[in-house]
Amino acid sequence: MKRVAVLTSGGDSPGMNAAIRAVAHTCMFNDVECVGVMRGYEGLIEGDYKVLDRAAVGGIIHRGGTILKTARSERFTTPEGRLTALEKMKEHGIEGLVVIGGDGSFHGAKALHDLGFPVIGVPGTIDNDITGTDETIGFDTAVNTALEAIMRLRDTASSHDRLFIVEVMGRNAGFLALETAVASGAEYAVVPELPLSIGNLCKLLRESYAEHKSHTLIILAEGVMSAHEMRDKLQDTGGYDARVTVLGYIQRGGHPTSFDVVLATRMGAFATESLLIGKSGMMVGNINHKLVLSPLERAWSEQKSLSPELLSLVNKMN
Ligand code: ATP
Repeated sequence: MKRVAVLTSGGDSPGMNAAIRAVAHTCMFNDVECVGVMRGYEGLIEGDYKVLDRAAVGGIIHRGGTILKTARSERFTTPEGRLTALEKMKEHGIEGLVVIGGDGSFHGAKALHDLGFPVIGVPGTIDNDITGTDETIGFDTAVNTALEAIMRLRDTASSHDRLFIVEVMGRNAGFLALETAVASGAEYAVVPELPLSIGNLCKLLRESYAEHKSHTLIILAEGVMSAHEMRDKLQDTGGYDARVTVLGYIQRGGHPTSFDVVLATRMGAFATESLLIGKSGMMVGNINHKLVLSPLERAWSEQKSLSPELLSLVNKMN
């Protein structure tokens, strides 16, 4: 291959820039030209590319977001859109593609692979909901960002003897909520993977207050319900007056942790090397600290499970 492209797609996540930089440098090391595609699959359809040389990827390793921008592309979900994207890449002499994103982006990557175009996926999402890798790029940073905010809330929660509900992101998965709950020493983690009974939660709170626990922190995954809804239910069922904080997009921003930068650099380099030796239709994963390739469809055909160990830890430590 003489020209390889890289794009970021779906929601942005901290560490994507480090992955882009790693793809570009691995290309340069192998005398391959690297082009960045702007705005994900939209830019692929429009032929919106820019050459990623040393200068273009200089000074980006610790920046949050993505210099290539990201977008959701309706057009790319149609066969016509994908054919236009293929024609544009052909026109520009692009012979392979690295897609950095979540499972939706991997669906798009698989569709290109099925049309005979070489593609490798790199998992970049704060949700960590992709099977085939222990961690996705951005997850560690998002947990740390949530933790920092919660530590501030803890101060006021303990000063005022308060019950706090903190809603974290994660879409339909509870990875972010569970990891954040363990890291922050929260009393409860409410995640979509486990059925929740408000009655049961009220009972646990009663028992906890009976033991003179002065303040309580509940970490709620957005995929269960909104924090405001939970506050109303706790009020109606148990008469609890909870304070609510929704962390929202704050968790997606900020500069990546060293863990995410290292993970992104390893994954970006490995994805590019795999592409250059002829692999395609695969995603990079970090399993037990080793980089591996697995079929892209694994990302959506197998559900990733929450760690039973972490789940039991939250219950033991409240
Ligand atoms: P995140 O987990 O952060 O939301 P994601 O990659 O799952 O990231 P999506 O919005 O689901 O984000 O997908 C990103 C883009 O991938 C879509 O806008 C679309 O262009 C493409 N895509 C998604 N699903 C398909 C599909 N079935 N076929 C082709 N392309 C798809």
